[in-house]
Amino acid sequence: MSCCSGGWGLWANNDGALFALSGRNVERLDVVHAPGEARLRGAYARMTWLFPNLSCAPRLAFVQGLGGRGGIYADGLIVIGVEDAIDVAARIWRSDYSQVVRTLARPHHRTQEDLMVALVVEVMGRVIAHELGHAVRRTSRYRTPYQNEELAADFTAGWIERRTSKIGQLGCRIFHAIGCNEIPCTHPNSAARVCAYAWGWNSGAA
Ligand SMILES: [Zn+2]
Repeated sequence: MSCCSGGWGLWANNDGALFALSGRNVERLDVVHAPGEARLRGAYARMTWLFPNLSCAPRLAFVQGLGGRGGIYADGLIVIGVEDAIDVAARIWRSDYSQVVRTLARPHHRTQEDLMVALVVEVMGRVIAHELGHAVRRTSRYRTPYQNEELAADFTAGWIERRTSKIGQLGCRIFHAIGCNEIPCTHPNSAARVCAYAWGWNSGAA
């Protein structure tokens, strides 16, 4: 989720409609198709296999904007904001383009846009891993070295990524980009988030 936004929440009504509270505004969220959604759902299925004691994996939904990158509702639903992921990807694109090319460019990427979509999918994959980290933590069967809820989720995300063979170096860059470097902030800063993710990554070596 985004930092420094004040009151923030996510919930569903009895009909299953999704709502987000961002600042003072309540917004109804429409579920959309995300770029690379089939791939992300496949990756999410592989992530959940790592937690056989998680009796019921949260469902995954994509919405256009969330006022944050991701959120988890009552452990039953993970919601990912597509535009928020695009914002993060655009920042990484501008500041670390050469790393994006080095880690992600493939022959089937014919245009810059293809590469950008690949980066957005990577960002959403990391946000999904982080939100799953929250769900896993709440089962209390899986422990992390962190008391802080967000850093614990980042640690678990790193652990998951290592086990599902993602590109750790890019993961560090993404967690750096989603760190909150303003004071005060509800979420940890870039350095703390990279550290938690990297620690989880190292702990995930089989
Ligand atoms: Zn979180």
